[in-house]
Amino acid sequence: MEKTRSIVRDVETNNNDLIVVTGAGGFIGGHLVRYFRDQGFARIRAVDKKPVNEWYLLTREAENLNVDCSDEAACRRVCENAVEVYNLAADMGGMGFIERFRVECLRSVLINTHMIDAASRAGARRYFFSSSACVYNTTLQQDPNVRALKESEAYPAMAERGYGWEKLISEMFCEEYWHERGMKTFIARFHNVYGPNGTWDGGREKAPAAICRKVVDAVERNSGRIVIWGDGTATRSFTYIDDCVTGTLRLMQSDVAEPLNIGSDQLVTINQLVDIVERIAGVQLKRRYRLDAPKGVRGRNSDNTLIHDRLGWTPSIRLEDGMRRTYEWIYGEMTRQAPRAVFV
Ligand code: NAD
Repeated sequence: MEKTRSIVRDVETNNNDLIVVTGAGGFIGGHLVRYFRDQGFARIRAVDKKPVNEWYLLTREAENLNVDCSDEAACRRVCENAVEVYNLAADMGGMGFIERFRVECLRSVLINTHMIDAASRAGARRYFFSSSACVYNTTLQQDPNVRALKESEAYPAMAERGYGWEKLISEMFCEEYWHERGMKTFIARFHNVYGPNGTWDGGREKAPAAICRKVVDAVERNSGRIVIWGDGTATRSFTYIDDCVTGTLRLMQSDVAEPLNIGSDQLVTINQLVDIVERIAGVQLKRRYRLDAPKGVRGRNSDNTLIHDRLGWTPSIRLEDGMRRTYEWIYGEMTRQAPRAVFV
């Protein structure tokens, strides 16, 4: 497949073109819809299988549809007249979810299979797929002092069981729809995206939101303690939502046919992530480590050489700044509402 370097659209999107976003009731999809609304797009179709009153961000100006995109006929209706399709829908969550519900994760293959075909049949010009750093070979991620992952290191494949394999096969669908059927498809491998208006409790939350919630809980209850999954020494990089949206749009405006990492390369241990949240909250907590909890790989970071080369851009929002905004939002959610069960 031809791989080109370009950041210029061949066809400018018109503000009256229909943009479809699936997973719009979720975290990243909700922010994308907001972005298009703010850019003046008049026709946005926002789709999610969750009832509309449960969406994190509801954009009134969009056509908000409560539809299950694992159904072929539903995807045809969703993609009718679409010019660009952003497929963000997936049954997913943090390690607590993807280690336990592999069948659910694998079943997301139905969503992309039907969405990409419906988009192609509808004559959509561009199709976006949200893949994940979980596609990378797990044998390269067994040490906290990781070498950052390059896009080429997804193969030979040994992806995260369930979730990672679904993303790999869906990536391949995207590449072949461009190659064989001529619809331009774009693949981002997101690395741990966090920020306001995402999941922070209930079992699908990821480490940044979970740690914010636990620190808020400790502050509110004055408990002086926090429970951390794992031993605190695993490493990750975390990508703020604004960088994720910017990278997604830049990729979609390019002609880059290969998957690209969209991920921060600011590597921290889980303990350092807790340090950051404690500083934001102005507390120091006694840490208890739950070594039996789901932990995922020992270390993971994003190599940004390729995205810099192809798009002339890399994520730049510092973890300290993004976590402050995230903490403040979660603090607001937790103190405004009736108390929820707190899972540790
Ligand atoms: P999210 O769980 O907040 O949003 C996903 C949304 O998809 C949910 O609202 C869910 O109801 C919806 N959905 C699930 N199945 C559906 C179906 N059959 N039909 C219609 N809607 C359905 O997750 P997110 O963090 O916003 O992630 C968006 C995408 O980015 C997902 O594909 C995810 O795998 C990918 N991704 C996210 C991260 C991250 O750190 N957040 C990292 C890597 C990849």
